[in-house]
Amino acid sequence: MVYLDNAATTKPCEQACEAVMKGLETFGNPSSLHRAGLEAELLVSEARECVADALGCSADEIYFTSGATESNNTAVFGAFKAQGKRKHRAVTTTVEHPAVAKPFDELEKLGCEVIRVSPDENGRFSAKDIFDAVNDDTFLVSAMLVNNETGAVLPVQKAFSMIKKKYPSVITHCDCVQGFMKTPVSVKKLCADMISVSGHKIYAPKGIGVLYIRKGLHIPAYLLGGGQEKGMRSGTESVPLICGFGAAVKMLKDNIPANLAKVRELESYLFEKCRENGEITVNYSGEDKLPYVNSISVKDLKSEVLLHFLEERGVYVSSGSACSKGKKSGVLQEFKIPARDLDTTIRVSFSVNSQKSDVDAFIAAVEEAQKKLARLR
Ligand code: PLP
Repeated sequence: MVYLDNAATTKPCEQACEAVMKGLETFGNPSSLHRAGLEAELLVSEARECVADALGCSADEIYFTSGATESNNTAVFGAFKAQGKRKHRAVTTTVEHPAVAKPFDELEKLGCEVIRVSPDENGRFSAKDIFDAVNDDTFLVSAMLVNNETGAVLPVQKAFSMIKKKYPSVITHCDCVQGFMKTPVSVKKLCADMISVSGHKIYAPKGIGVLYIRKGLHIPAYLLGGGQEKGMRSGTESVPLICGFGAAVKMLKDNIPANLAKVRELESYLFEKCRENGEITVNYSGEDKLPYVNSISVKDLKSEVLLHFLEERGVYVSSGSACSKGKKSGVLQEFKIPARDLDTTIRVSFSVNSQKSDVDAFIAAVEEAQKKLARLR
């Protein structure tokens, strides 16, 4: 199998699988006061330390969730509950994942003034545009670090630092799902009050995520119950998944620059092959992009048709974003990808284990499709 859909999900690494097994065997409830409970609690604490270390924060600022969707919902609705009664404006971007975009739609229904900042005519974001959308009546700014459809890196660090200087009480939230453990993410540098990350994008299992909440920021609890996660997120902790998450973070922690350099080479190789082909357009490239996620369009070949042709040859990619399930992506339009290329866009996303031979297999299968498949008119 040539798996090039790592922005959708990654294959869990060996370390994560072993840690999940250990978490299953250590079956006590972390809330129990006996030894079995303490052993489970110890594993959860170790994983929490690992994630905190990777984000440059303290362990008690880390809250385990069921994934980034829950983290994002908790952050957006939590900020609203914390401040949205006094202030009315909430700022986000037009290219967010639905797990942020849809909660913002809800804020609008709840009476908030929602400002969605767009990229410029070249599909590039400016920190100043995000900053300019904030005013004295703003309670929340949420912007993603890396876009899941194009790999674009948004100027969040610059925007948040400008915002915090002028409006210190505005809550800043960043969906770091596609950037975490691929590029260094530091809560301090990012000037973020809250950060969402997900396990299954970084070789850990599905169903586990983290929400970082800066100490001192009071966000009301999203799930009420037994008071786990310091009352923020009730429900018995999923010890196995938490262990898997911690192990994956540990595996990646010291290798972020080396992995980035390796994947950057793969990106260059892919783009070179696209250019050589002559009928494959690279939709987004440049300095402000992570090489892990790549959006390309194959002239006159409809995405879904190509996707299934490739699948039959053991090559797995996605059309636009996996989450949009074949729907035409509004996000790609926001990035100013020409209308003619929208129907023919596919996403090729690398893991740290991807190889040049994967790119070769992908290009060979696309070239076969170019010869055999009926073209769009
Ligand atoms: N945010 C971004 C940028 C994503 O790419 C995804 C998943 O594709 C999510 C949030 C949702 O993450 P999860 O699957 O952990 O709920």
